[in-house]
Amino acid sequence: MRSLTLAEARERAELISVTSYAVELDLDHGDQVFGSVSSIAFTCSSPGADSWVDVKARSIESATLNGVPLDPAEATEGRLPLTGLAADNVLVVRATMAYSHDGQGLHRATDPADRRDYVYGHLFLDAAPRVFACFDQPDLKAPYDLTVRAPQGWTVLGNGASHEVAPGRWQLATTRPLATYFVTVCAGPYVSVRDEHDGIPLGIHARASLQEPLERHAPELFEVTRQSFDYFHGLFGIRYPFGEYHQVFVPEFNAGAMENPGCVTLRDQYLFRGAATRDELLSRANTVSHEMSHMWFGDLVTMKWWDDLWLNESFAEYMSHRCLVEATEYADAWVDSSIVRKVWGYGAERSPSTHPVAGVEALDAQSALQNFDGISYAKGAAVLRQLIAYVGDDAFVGGLRTYLTDKSYANGTLADFLGAIERASGMDLTAWSGAWLLTAGRDTISVDLEAPEGVVQAARLLRAAPPSHPADRPHALDVAGWADGTEVSRVQVTVESEVTPLDGIAGTPEPAVLVPNAGDLTWARVRLDEGTLAALPTQLARVPDAQARAVVWSALIDGVHVAEVSPATFLDVFASTWSTEANASILTRMALYAEHRIVPYFVPRDAQAGALARLARSGRDLLGRAEEGSTRSLAAARLLAGTSDDETLLRAWAEGSGLPHGLEDDGDFRWIVVRNLAARGLIDASAVDSYRARDDTLQGSLNALMCRAALPVPEEKAWAWDQLTGHHARSNYEMVHLARGFWMSPDDRLVADYVARYFSDVPAMSGWVGEDALSRVVLAAFPKVFTEETEALSARALRRDDLTPAVRRSLVDADSDLREALASRAAFASVFRAGV
Ligand SMILES: [Zn+2]
Repeated sequence: MRSLTLAEARERAELISVTSYAVELDLDHGDQVFGSVSSIAFTCSSPGADSWVDVKARSIESATLNGVPLDPAEATEGRLPLTGLAADNVLVVRATMAYSHDGQGLHRATDPADRRDYVYGHLFLDAAPRVFACFDQPDLKAPYDLTVRAPQGWTVLGNGASHEVAPGRWQLATTRPLATYFVTVCAGPYVSVRDEHDGIPLGIHARASLQEPLERHAPELFEVTRQSFDYFHGLFGIRYPFGEYHQVFVPEFNAGAMENPGCVTLRDQYLFRGAATRDELLSRANTVSHEMSHMWFGDLVTMKWWDDLWLNESFAEYMSHRCLVEATEYADAWVDSSIVRKVWGYGAERSPSTHPVAGVEALDAQSALQNFDGISYAKGAAVLRQLIAYVGDDAFVGGLRTYLTDKSYANGTLADFLGAIERASGMDLTAWSGAWLLTAGRDTISVDLEAPEGVVQAARLLRAAPPSHPADRPHALDVAGWADGTEVSRVQVTVESEVTPLDGIAGTPEPAVLVPNAGDLTWARVRLDEGTLAALPTQLARVPDAQARAVVWSALIDGVHVAEVSPATFLDVFASTWSTEANASILTRMALYAEHRIVPYFVPRDAQAGALARLARSGRDLLGRAEEGSTRSLAAARLLAGTSDDETLLRAWAEGSGLPHGLEDDGDFRWIVVRNLAARGLIDASAVDSYRARDDTLQGSLNALMCRAALPVPEEKAWAWDQLTGHHARSNYEMVHLARGFWMSPDDRLVADYVARYFSDVPAMSGWVGEDALSRVVLAAFPKVFTEETEALSARALRRDDLTPAVRRSLVDADSDLREALASRAAFASVFRAGV
């Protein structure tokens, strides 16, 4: 299918204004296809001109333009030509569309728990024509009237309030003007909990088999929703404009959530069926608030073209954290951001695929998708925090309100947004935005300290721009130091040159731990000094400031990835401090990072078992001390379950005996145990099947696929590879779970043959898997055999010219991860030979 180019979009927007859409969907045609009738009223500024409508149908039954039949056979590559447009036009397209299983378009999934089917629309970024004929570009907004025929007993939800006007016939209220990619319909035997706040009807919905967790989590979900509405109403000065507010928890969702006006879709793993840690609840609250902030920024005012997509995401990423900190119980949301979101963004910045936050020409819609990453979210939000430090919060909020008011129900650009901030602040942002928004890369910052007799005589903050992306980036940041748990220094500075004196530190006691960017206000690589690195095992746990501890962990991760810090140092700090970590986000995320990233990527193969055993000891240690049922207890149990080689313990837990309090009936926890047993070859496929039978749910069946793929048996690897790559119509989630399990092998020889096969079989899947889903599969399935042979094959694959944009982008990133692992292993091989 051709992807819409910027030039085409501009030309069509000059020509066409859409007055309204009326869309009829018939979802009562079985589980393969659905009927779609799209009636579009639109005007043409240049009567007689030609254009086209986007429609990606299984078949087009008929089409008429102003009553005159069009030939459906003329549709090619998702476009039906329209010739001789009148000033006022009505186009009617009747088509049969296919349900998707890759999370793009109208996704249909069967719940294994009760064999009931669920449908949801995810039309981002260019999937709207897979559901109805439309002019699919973000600046052709129009109101929608939707009617839906659905099997009896189904509930239908969408952007406008829905009503069942006759059995199985649903009508949705006319919407405000929406961009095509925001239209959604969710239909199925969804169960609901409803509420109301400040005149806004609220609903949350999920599969029938998730009714219990839906009801259990409803109070907290509504609480965050209410708090966010109040906060954003106050901050933006504009009422929520889209009527009812529904949040639908849907199966097999690719992203975290999608900000469809009035009808947000969220991945239904957020309805934790078992125990959840505090940071998992924080993360969910963050997503809820993120999507709500989009109702104003993104939905009410939409970017004109995809190259400003970053602005939506940077803004929502910033706003949700601000809202959580100021209006909810999650006052430590910025700590979570440091250790979750910014670690992700820094990873994107290290990859050769890095790009400026803004100003990347998206010449077509699909190429825009490739820049939708940790830079758009995490770096963009950090840059907005720097902008606020630069212009002041009053000017930022004032400019923002003007922008949202001036562009309501229309489209805006980066220039519009910055212009509003410039007018509100009276400042020229040209140089600032050139350095921060239009240039990729990040500075490295470090502190040079002179403290000859235990007292600081002089200190300087050093800023070094990456040679590949030079820029004069001004930073507002702080530097803080601790000794034996006491904060001995803290200074705020504005960094505007390569060397900035830290006069405020002179005369203070020499710190044991010195943290540049301790408050994590800026975006930079923090290089810790040698003294601090050496002191961390004994000192880090005593630093009382969770934000600074998060910055230290993030700096350690960066250091390992660029082969400056030994993974052994990371594991030493982990072993000596993790079990006393009080912040939930740091605690759980560093355990996951150690288990799933540091050990498999950076620790040599023959030292991995020892490193995992060490992690298991930390888990066992904390489990013995943590309060029952607490986040600490849960994090400890999960770490132990995932890393332990204690077969007796694992078998007991898998069978449900001796489980830590609160995990007695936790299906997700049992799968961590079963996965460990499977990867070690301590159980076989029939045992995996029996655990699946005990958990006959969507989560259960996905986990069973992963565990079976993890079995270290040649026949099972062959089966898993065939299921993954062999055109078995596996869903997006099934493919990712198969891929994750596949490389969990204690012996590289077992999977060695699949390294070369990966580079031919997986890119070929672009023939039947959508780009969004495939980009995740390419990453998950990338060989975890870290050798020079893999590196050579990867390099050769990247020279191919037949890769789709998503496949190429994910390959670049996975290749970068592989190179980092190899570089670190080469640099620190002697550390592990000596034994850790
Ligand atoms: Zn978003």
